[in-house]
Amino acid sequence: MSAEEIELAAQWIATSKKLVVFTGAGISTESGLPDFRGPNGIWTRRDKGLPPPKTKKPWHLVDPNPAHYALVELQELGILDFLISQNVDNLHLKSGIKPEKLAELHGNTTLMVCLQCNRKMTYEEAGWDKRIWGPGYRTSPVHPRQPKCPYCGGRIISSIVNFGDPLPEKDLEAAFYHSKTCDVFLVIGSSLVVTPAAYCPQLALKAGAKVIILNEGETPFDNLVHLRIYGKAGQIMPKIVAQVKELLKLQKY
Ligand code: NAD
Repeated sequence: MSAEEIELAAQWIATSKKLVVFTGAGISTESGLPDFRGPNGIWTRRDKGLPPPKTKKPWHLVDPNPAHYALVELQELGILDFLISQNVDNLHLKSGIKPEKLAELHGNTTLMVCLQCNRKMTYEEAGWDKRIWGPGYRTSPVHPRQPKCPYCGGRIISSIVNFGDPLPEKDLEAAFYHSKTCDVFLVIGSSLVVTPAAYCPQLALKAGAKVIILNEGETPFDNLVHLRIYGKAGQIMPKIVAQVKELLKLQKY
């Protein structure tokens, strides 16, 4: 990471007409959640014959970090148009991102979804006790007395997208639409190898947007994008947002 890279990212973001951000597991490692493919990721360790890294707290007690809050600041400044996330950890909503500005392509551990009316709800709202009814995955057996959607009576399942499950249609549609119509697209903490999520930066590039990748490790898009920043999201995002604020102040005068 260099001062020039931060300045350029801030300039593009401050002058963007439509900023879309795309996040992966790497934005949450500084909150204490392991990613899959980072240096201490679950799969990196598995390939070396090592057990998964230890998480200090249960997922629901983990807090957002400065990178998550930097995105909330961009939202409050009226600059963040839309956020696409592959994460299931609920940290974007917990940090204050508005649900209407967020597509969670792989679901959210705290939410269930109705297969009939598509509404999302917390486990509490659904009256679903995991100790009785289990995780409620799409592939889990259906018990005749398990809770149904409180709104329409349809079957409710965990919103988590497991391997082989379809992605949530509305979130995917929104993600593709916003990727195609933005002028600045910022990737934070993703190896960009999981599809269809990784089609989003491709769509943005094809549409002529300036694409920035902020990631510690390599991605297949590194030579195709307009700006590549290596480093930790929790350290770099607050610096970028601080400069965005300075530039906005200057624009006012
Ligand atoms: P990934 O593990 O494939 O890649 C994460 C990337 O982030 C790596 O390239 C790594 O070098 C980088 N990284 C790690 N820490 C970083 C930091 N502090 N700052 C900047 N970069 C950092 O993750 P992915 O691309 O999101 O795809 C994997 C899948 O993993 C997704 O489908 C996601 O649903 C799932 N997943 C989610 C979580 C979560 O919700 N927190 C955790 C693990 C896996």
